[in-house]
Amino acid sequence: AYLDRIEKVEPKVNALVTTCAEDALESARHVDEKRAKGEALGRLAGIPTIIKDNMCTKGILSTASSKMLYNYKPVYDATVIEKLKAQDYVLLAKANMDEFAMGSSTETSYFGVTKNPWDTSRVPGGSSGGSAACVAADESVFSLGSDTGGSVRQPAAFCGVVGLKPTYGTVSRFGLMAFASSLDQIGPLTKTVEDSALVLDVISGNDKKDSTSAIMEYPHYGEGMKKDIKGLKVGIPKEYLEQEIDPEVRQSYLDAIKLFEDMGAIVEETSLPTFDYALSAYYVIASAEVASNLSRFDGIRYGYRTEHYSDLKEMYKNTRSEGFGDETKRRIMLGNYVLSSGYYDAYYLKALKVKTLIKNDFDRLFSEYDILLSPTAPTPAFKIGAKATPLEMYVNDLFTVPVNIAGVTAISVPSGVTGEGLPVSVQMIAKAFDENTMFRAAWNFE
Ligand code: GLN
Repeated sequence: AYLDRIEKVEPKVNALVTTCAEDALESARHVDEKRAKGEALGRLAGIPTIIKDNMCTKGILSTASSKMLYNYKPVYDATVIEKLKAQDYVLLAKANMDEFAMGSSTETSYFGVTKNPWDTSRVPGGSSGGSAACVAADESVFSLGSDTGGSVRQPAAFCGVVGLKPTYGTVSRFGLMAFASSLDQIGPLTKTVEDSALVLDVISGNDKKDSTSAIMEYPHYGEGMKKDIKGLKVGIPKEYLEQEIDPEVRQSYLDAIKLFEDMGAIVEETSLPTFDYALSAYYVIASAEVASNLSRFDGIRYGYRTEHYSDLKEMYKNTRSEGFGDETKRRIMLGNYVLSSGYYDAYYLKALKVKTLIKNDFDRLFSEYDILLSPTAPTPAFKIGAKATPLEMYVNDLFTVPVNIAGVTAISVPSGVTGEGLPVSVQMIAKAFDENTMFRAAWNFE
């Protein structure tokens, strides 16, 4: 049924890069056989799933929506894929995204823009736009995305689904193509908060193949989620409300605050003074890391190679000029600039110091509050082509990037629909490794 649905809506939505119908039916048959034999089934047995195309799937194209990897079939599975397989999931397809996860609209994909299923003249958000659109359009039960500065939460908000950015270190990054390694984290996009907790429970855990993976006793995610939230302390950082926010998004946020009060939470205004510096610090740090991470794409080992060259240097140059899109090149240039000897102290080192200040600011707030509440994005989904300059696009990430910089966790949950029929969401933020308090707030709110 899901494969039929994909066939029907894909021409309108373009959420997918690769569909693996044969493999999907094979996995489904395998689950049936297991069931017939009375064997124990995994927790995701037979559940149709779509994975963002920057996660390695063995033998199946994994392109990161870049021409650079147009023909790349990994020889191994990402750890998250191994974990999903162990629970008998069914992989239907790989989802479209902004090239190498850089963008907020899925417009930088080599494979064309994904359309928002609520209004196909609008973007689905990004960079996990395909992952959000495919769940909203019922092409999949859930999907995985990656979130470096908001790439799970913002598209989830634009498409009216639930999007989770787990605490840095909770989900292994092994087999996730690195964008900004110190910020990247894989997270689920689901229809409900309960599904979000279930998927996190499956994909989380320590992994020796990722040196930043947290060594701890992992909780049972979702436990205690259905308890009420009387007495829960909710902070409203005033800096969020001081930004330019679409009036309907603002109203939906104010309504959400009221709902928390009605449910017995203790809601207070508070302050995150370093908020104003987060976006600038993010674009310095993320660009520096991506410039380094993408240096591996040289046309030698795998992926795209130019046909026009007379020596090695020209081969590198033409491969990278032809293989990367404009936004990727912009970030590589910006990253190399802020890392260069003359500017390192002024930009990169400064940004790292700001990162520490932001982290301290969050720590202080979480000594007083259980969760912080904010809008997920300043506007609902915008029209395709509406953001004329890179800066207009970057401003979209205002509310999501501080979470990645602080390394904490956040979830985007639908809070309403605008007069034009576009979904709007709020974001709940909790301290590092306290997903369960956040799930409880989110489940009660939903
Ligand atoms: N939109 C942000 C960027 O372009 C965040 C992307 C992401 O989280 N992967 O960098």
